[in-house]
Amino acid sequence: MKAALLYGIKDLRIQDIDVPKVEYGEILVKVKAATTCGTDLKIYQRGYVGGVIKLPTVFGHEWAGDIVDVGKGVPYFQEGMRVRAGNSSPCLRCYMCQRGKFNLCEDMMWLWGAYAEYIKVPQRIVTLNTQVIPDHLTYDEAAVTEPLACVLHGIEEARVKLGDTVAIIGAGPIGLLHLLIVRKMGAGKIIISDTIDERLQLARKLGADEAINAKKEDTAEKTKKLTGGYGADVVIEAIGMPATWEQALKMVRKGGTVLEFGGCPPQTEIKISTEQLHYGETTIMGAFHTTPSHFKKALNLIASGAINVKPLITNHVKLSDIKQALETLATSKTDIKIAISP
Ligand SMILES: [Zn+2]
Ligand SMILES: [Zn+2]
Repeated sequence: MKAALLYGIKDLRIQDIDVPKVEYGEILVKVKAATTCGTDLKIYQRGYVGGVIKLPTVFGHEWAGDIVDVGKGVPYFQEGMRVRAGNSSPCLRCYMCQRGKFNLCEDMMWLWGAYAEYIKVPQRIVTLNTQVIPDHLTYDEAAVTEPLACVLHGIEEARVKLGDTVAIIGAGPIGLLHLLIVRKMGAGKIIISDTIDERLQLARKLGADEAINAKKEDTAEKTKKLTGGYGADVVIEAIGMPATWEQALKMVRKGGTVLEFGGCPPQTEIKISTEQLHYGETTIMGAFHTTPSHFKKALNLIASGAINVKPLITNHVKLSDIKQALETLATSKTDIKIAISP
């Protein structure tokens, strides 16, 4: 089968490799759509590999497809079913899992391999984190379940409430998914910032009340102005740079919450004012990855039409052009997510 293997920074190769063989508890899926992700782009450009990915590997982690083979011991899936699976599964046994923090599992199983004709799903992920796609949903939409699951987890942690003013830094795929969710949750006012006008236009279409071009205006100052001088109830950083993490702290009201969502480069730090924490009672939180229950919720939200992810899929390309697709994403003003088909 054709597959795109990542060997290192910007070293992505289309190769012919064997179709994986299923063993006990596993399923083999013919990939019908895979979507690009900010995480893919980050790993491709900057090489954050950590414990999440071991190279070389078939790249890509957001996908949906048809089951073509089922191993022994899988009573709940059959050939021909349309499915998607999460890119991870917790162990349920470790210290963090036993405390219900499944996203922080110390023995997380990660699944890469979406940019290929076939993907084999290991037993733990088949059991805990594979879902049947409702008939009316396209494969493209179903593939976007993963980032939406991550966003749902973050939003739940940040406890956004009805009527809140929410400021989102970054109008890329993750910022826009946050926007769709907080709009649905009944945020009173949504302020979003980015440096690309085209993205801000899309954000307005998707429900942002105010859109700030950070190249032309001071985002923190403008946010204060738009909130009567107070700052937002909740600020969400969806870029992953220390500078914007710090900027988020300047945009929040007293007693408000800052969700630092975007993952920064390794070994970076930010400065926090002790006065702001103490006298301003700012809550600062991070959010990492997600859990199987959030994957299920995310798929349900897409399937019910509560969250429409279609506007985020702005382009379609063939697997053979995946490298070009990632390069395009890095520079494009209008592309948010690209759907890849084998
Ligand atoms: Zn993703
Ligand atoms: Zn665990």
